[in-house]
Amino acid sequence: MTRQGVAVLGSTGSIGTTALRVISRQRHRFRVAALTANSNAALLRQQETEFAPAYVGIVNSDEQRPGGWHSGAECLIEAATRDDADIVLNAIVGAAGLDATLAAVRAGKRVALANKETLVVAGALVERACREGGGEIVPVDSEHSAILQCIGTRPRSDVRRIILTASGGPFREWSEQRLADATVADALRHPTWTMGRKITIDSATLANKALEVIEAHFLFGLPYDRIEVVVHPQSIIHSFVEFVDGSVVAQMGLPNMELPVLYALTHPDRAPDDGVEPFDPVKASPMTFEPVGYARFPALRLGIDAGKRGGAAPAVYNAANEQAVALFLGGLIRFGDIPRAIASSLDKLGDMAGETREELLAADSCARRLVMELF
Ligand code: NAD
Ligand code: MG
Repeated sequence: MTRQGVAVLGSTGSIGTTALRVISRQRHRFRVAALTANSNAALLRQQETEFAPAYVGIVNSDEQRPGGWHSGAECLIEAATRDDADIVLNAIVGAAGLDATLAAVRAGKRVALANKETLVVAGALVERACREGGGEIVPVDSEHSAILQCIGTRPRSDVRRIILTASGGPFREWSEQRLADATVADALRHPTWTMGRKITIDSATLANKALEVIEAHFLFGLPYDRIEVVVHPQSIIHSFVEFVDGSVVAQMGLPNMELPVLYALTHPDRAPDDGVEPFDPVKASPMTFEPVGYARFPALRLGIDAGKRGGAAPAVYNAANEQAVALFLGGLIRFGDIPRAIASSLDKLGDMAGETREELLAADSCARRLVMELF
């Protein structure tokens, strides 16, 4: 069997390092064709030594760039379109991952997509680029991986609705009052998942679940009224699919991204992997479910509404959220300011044009600027 080449974009992050762990157990199937990172040159150098990729790129660090490394945002496109890369694992955080996804699917690649912001900012453009270039998107996000696995080979017309599970985040049981002043440390204390800082804050505001609803809309071609969210604090059931006959299929596993990453690389096949801790239903018990607290977590409804509105609204939602999360992580705004910033941005900019990449990126920068001016 010839090994498939994988370009890992964002290799120094939480998903990137998870993916390299998976690949190191699957070296008979996969080799690393390219690695890129934003600025962590020390870790990138270690990864280069271990995986010997033909291409290494670092976007934002000139100081420590060893000879032979590529730099600047172009390196993401180069890595994503290399002939020796069959699969592009996009584990970049934020809208910064968009162009690499577009370039990869245009070049006919499989994109194992962790970078959900790609589909939120420009889902329709990505769909078109897939059709034109022959590429495909396979989700890494655990909920979407679950849905893909539940649907299997059934046509979309067999699906009545999908139900995304949400852990509820660290503030599931907090009152609205207490939430307004939650600290960065509180928000980074996720009950079930260990992830990068931005998505961890998104999980605390539930903006992450809104991004995932939009992601599901584009991945599975379902209207928003057939995508629901339920809180499942144990994060064992990664999502449900209800079929037209009323049967409900769920996918389960421990809250660990190794399996969804591996499945995105091998889909529709399955690869034996003994590195994942065996599932024990007794240990995973009990599994409970609760309605989602839309009133306490306004970012969720704002995001779903932005998805329904379409055009540039999802891009505005995403950019305002990215900017507000950066300010919150920097200690400059309060937790409750995040949804407030998103709401003002959508009020002012939600109707901007959003057909082309340029229009979407313009809406993205306007939203970031607006949020900076708000505080
Ligand atoms: P992270 O912050 O840990 O890692 C981000 C990676 O992207 C790093 O390698 C960084 O160098 C790179 N990067 C950051 N900004 C960049 C830029 N401007 N240009 C190029 N590269 C840049 O984030 P993460 O938690 O690994 O999340 C990555 C993506 O996967 C996000 O879209 C997130 O929503 C999604 N995701 C993550 C998890 C998880 O468990 N961590 C689960 C599901 C989905
Ligand atoms: Mg998820």
